[in-house]
Amino acid sequence: MTAIAVLGSTNMDLVAYVARAPGRGETVTGREFRTVPGGKGANQAVAAARAGGEVVMIGAVGTDEYGSALRTHLEHAGVDTDLLHTVAGPSGTAHIVVDDEGANSIVVIPGANGSVTALGPGERAAVSAAGLLLLQLELPLTAVTEAARTARDRGVRTILTPSPVRTLPSALLAAVDLLIPDEHEATALTGCAEPHAAAQILLRQVPAVVITLGRKGCLYAARGAEPVLFPAPEVTAVDTTGAGDTFVGTLAVALGEGRPVPEAVAWASSAAALCVQRQGASTSMPHRSEIDAA
Ligand code: ATP
Repeated sequence: MTAIAVLGSTNMDLVAYVARAPGRGETVTGREFRTVPGGKGANQAVAAARAGGEVVMIGAVGTDEYGSALRTHLEHAGVDTDLLHTVAGPSGTAHIVVDDEGANSIVVIPGANGSVTALGPGERAAVSAAGLLLLQLELPLTAVTEAARTARDRGVRTILTPSPVRTLPSALLAAVDLLIPDEHEATALTGCAEPHAAAQILLRQVPAVVITLGRKGCLYAARGAEPVLFPAPEVTAVDTTGAGDTFVGTLAVALGEGRPVPEAVAWASSAAALCVQRQGASTSMPHRSEIDAA
């Protein structure tokens, strides 16, 4: 089995459910409060581990109670947390307000995630030994770029989810093998709302791209080949949170097993479709047996 290294964020999501989100200076009474383990890095790690991957998480949590809860959550999923450092201060938190129409507003406080500015010898060794590296943009860009370049120097395949979307330095893009933006991120990166056209622009910078299109599925495009649209399985979605991270984590497992891209994408689409049929983010990610059965 190919080991998957994930360098990314670990957050506790603090979610308040309200009929209507408060305006500036306003106080409203909400209906329910939940704490849910999150962070794009940790979510992708959990998705990959549940799908049968051997996963190492690189990042940091704080010395607060969220830090130990987040570590335990990852370990329960089977993720190796030896390189998830505990640093003095608070863990990363996402403060989320969800209204009755399902719309949300979010404040992210990076906390311990902000301390991951560079790789130490242990992190460099883990990236070098991995078969695949998963990156997102919730950690300082210096560490993300260093990890990508380390992977490239060692011939480790790198997958980047450009979220939260921002201008990407060429030093980072030059080390990415597969870029996986959603529709909105692809538009933000290219100025182009049509996925085929956006993919062609992105292919000038990276060799391959998958643009995820929600319930429409995803578009796979690689240099020198015809783009392929993969429709998503038709299901009734109840909560799409975490669908993107499930897709990326499970795709990494399938690619790490040497499966051809069309087969890997179809498998990841099945996993993401299972995720959207259940409430929650990391809690709704499917296990391998469920994905195979689907
Ligand atoms: P999120 O931020 O909600 O985790 P995302 O914006 O990163 O998601 P999407 O493009 O919305 O990513 O979804 C990722 C993948 O999940 C899609 O390519 C598709 O395979 C699957 N998916 C999402 N929504 C649905 C749906 N309603 N039905 C079936 N599959 C879905």
